[in-house]
Amino acid sequence: MKIAVLSGKGGAGKTFIAVNLAQISNDALYVDADVEEPNGYLYFQPTIRKQINVSISVPRIDEELCNLCRRCVDFCRFNALAFVQKKIIYISDFCHSCGGCRLVCPQNAIVEKARVIGRIDIGYAGTIDFISGYLNPESISGVPIIQKIISQIPKKKFVILDCAPGSGCTVVETVKAADYCIIVGEESAFGCHDFRIACNLANTMNKPYGAIINKSGKESGPVNAYCNLNKIKILGKIPYNYELGTLLSQGRIAAKEKEEYYKIFTRIYKQLKKDYS
Ligand code: SF4
Ligand code: SF4
Repeated sequence: MKIAVLSGKGGAGKTFIAVNLAQISNDALYVDADVEEPNGYLYFQPTIRKQINVSISVPRIDEELCNLCRRCVDFCRFNALAFVQKKIIYISDFCHSCGGCRLVCPQNAIVEKARVIGRIDIGYAGTIDFISGYLNPESISGVPIIQKIISQIPKKKFVILDCAPGSGCTVVETVKAADYCIIVGEESAFGCHDFRIACNLANTMNKPYGAIINKSGKESGPVNAYCNLNKIKILGKIPYNYELGTLLSQGRIAAKEKEEYYKIFTRIYKQLKKDYS
């Protein structure tokens, strides 16, 4: 079973939830799919046994074959090709590796070459398997890295997919691979706004989901009210706690350190197993 943990915004506690659920399961595969800013390794301090580079195909123009017809320039919707001073200029930062320019070139003057955009690390931390993706800073899309990660996931594993924040392309690609989503909501007006975006994403993609409310107070807040109104199952609530913030800032796993969090995450984990295994 693959569970995607997502939130409409950064800082809602997604990685905190993902790491602690993986910890409780004891034999899960934890996947850090937040490839622009992966931080799961800070908690698990994994031993890495394999690294795989991830490449995309980008165009290279053979100037001897090119007749400067500019069809490739007109085709490229990302403005990665330009006609400047009687030359076709390629701007790699804008290229989405769609391959279209090569198809429209009447001269077969465009060939593809590989460009490394990042890597994935595969390893383990005790009994927990670990995969994390890393997008190189100058690269624009982490989707090929997510696809590579998904291809490395063994079948029959309890997998926690720690998504990127928001609802962008890498989140969509990660959720696509999931059987179930946990949407983490931060109990504030802003948090509720972004929680709703994540719920809309799961609805649009026809994925079953439940909520975990983080930083919950004594009073019922907007995320709680939204869940009740829309009949969204609340899998658990994490009370707002200053000490928890300190633990997290030190890269410690709360369910390992504190009985209170061990119980909360054990309850959530058992419920997930019961409902969806
Ligand atoms: S591969 Fe696609 S995005 Fe890149 S230059 Fe060619 S047409 Fe533009
Ligand atoms: S489509 Fe081909 S031949 Fe025309 S400008 Fe581009 S690379 Fe040159």
